[in-house]
Amino acid sequence: MKKYIMALDQGTTSSRCILFTKDGETVSMVQREFPQIFPKEGWVEHDPLTIWSTQISVATEALYKIGSSWDEVYGIGITNQRETTIVWDKATGEPVYNAIVWQCRRTADYCKSLEDSGYSNLIKEKTGLLIDPYFSATKIKWILDNVEGARAKAERGELAFGTVDTWLIWKLTGGAVHATDYSNASRTMLYNISELKWDTELLKIMNIPYSMLPEVKPSSSIFGYTDKSLIGASVAIGGVAGDQQAALFGQCCFNEGELKNTYGTGAFLLMNTGNTPRITNNGLLTTIAWGLDGKVYYALEGSVFTCGAAIQWLRDGMKLIESAQDSEYYASKVKDSGGVMVVPAFSGLGAPWWDPYARGIIIGITRATNKYHIIRATLESMAFQTADVIDLMERTLGRKITELKVDGGASANNLLMAFQSDILGVNIERPSCVETTALGAAYLAGLALGVYSSVEDIKENRKVEKIFSPKNDEEWRKNKKSVWRRAVERSLLWQE
Ligand code: ADP
Repeated sequence: MKKYIMALDQGTTSSRCILFTKDGETVSMVQREFPQIFPKEGWVEHDPLTIWSTQISVATEALYKIGSSWDEVYGIGITNQRETTIVWDKATGEPVYNAIVWQCRRTADYCKSLEDSGYSNLIKEKTGLLIDPYFSATKIKWILDNVEGARAKAERGELAFGTVDTWLIWKLTGGAVHATDYSNASRTMLYNISELKWDTELLKIMNIPYSMLPEVKPSSSIFGYTDKSLIGASVAIGGVAGDQQAALFGQCCFNEGELKNTYGTGAFLLMNTGNTPRITNNGLLTTIAWGLDGKVYYALEGSVFTCGAAIQWLRDGMKLIESAQDSEYYASKVKDSGGVMVVPAFSGLGAPWWDPYARGIIIGITRATNKYHIIRATLESMAFQTADVIDLMERTLGRKITELKVDGGASANNLLMAFQSDILGVNIERPSCVETTALGAAYLAGLALGVYSSVEDIKENRKVEKIFSPKNDEEWRKNKKSVWRRAVERSLLWQE
């Protein structure tokens, strides 16, 4: 008897497996961290074989933990750290190099040269992305240019490229399937998101052979079946999506205009924009949300570089708090930040400011300022930065948002959520299952496997744990935002 949908959540620091019931309830979860490899300043790698071994072991343990077996699994949904690049030998399955992680900046010079050659608009129009080392394309090129013999092999058609989802599908199917989904393809900087195909012009510019690329499939579809010799069962892989897109799906943002914010180390805001891509030139990314039922859904994405990381800084750098959770207790000891603003521009500012030279400031300090004001102002900065990105989305789309769905570690902070609601002037909805990334992957798989008949079925599962409503008026909001803007202006162009 089938009972569970298995979500494999392959993240940047750990591999996790969650078993969900049809109702979206978590019945088992196992997580394993793996080593981060830093060969040089600004370089980040993972061992692809460790990614695989941790992922398959948490999968089997999650079943073992509740005395279940593969026979009880409807199928598998995969969600993954995005953009991270793996290249392997099609014949042996051996990676030719470590996985180059999304955070890795090693291709910054090459990206600069693409910009200098005037490719920014072309790349934006075709892929919806900005030229940046973040995306997979220049990482693939780096491997071909720097690993001995790799380019010759790739040109002979002997190498495969994949993002982490593709690597896991390959391993799970015993090398039978080389595929990815629309959402992951849209993060490579090689995929034409309007024409839905690998872009031969971009491949030529970056000198990447077409034969390396995976087949691109709808996010909710049968990708293949697990190799029986691996786990003793042939289980369908029915859903695949990059982590932020999966979270958007897990939050049931199925309709145009619905959006979610994930408050993690950084913050990721994604808004479903329906079936046509909206290419903008204001620092927001256009990306594929998912492919489902023969249609492709797009999203606008904006990110805040330093979100929960600012709370880590209060804890580890400033030693003002002992744990991230403490921030709420201390911040609630004062009625407001006492005019203090913290702009956590630790590594510059993203949308809508786009200033890599901005640096963090604490401003508005008086003799009456104490540590609680600074803690509170740091929490509030997470809400202000989110509001700035939403503001940009609203201006881009020409309409106001009506509510915001939240998840991620820092969404547990009630004071932050209440302030966020106040600053935006809309309701904030926190679901009872905050594992929205894994849930989204499970839902995508469940739809392909017939566990659910439509997204309406899935919506019935959604349980809201808490709604935060605005308490202050528009005048208050305007005032606060204007003080924030003045503080941000003073943080800009600091680093020489
Ligand atoms: P990631 O997936 O990026 O590692 P998580 O979603 O696990 O992030 O969230 C962890 C981040 O959230 C950390 O940066 C931490 O400082 C912050 N955080 C966790 N709990 C709280 C809290 N109660 N209040 C404020 N920040 C928090």
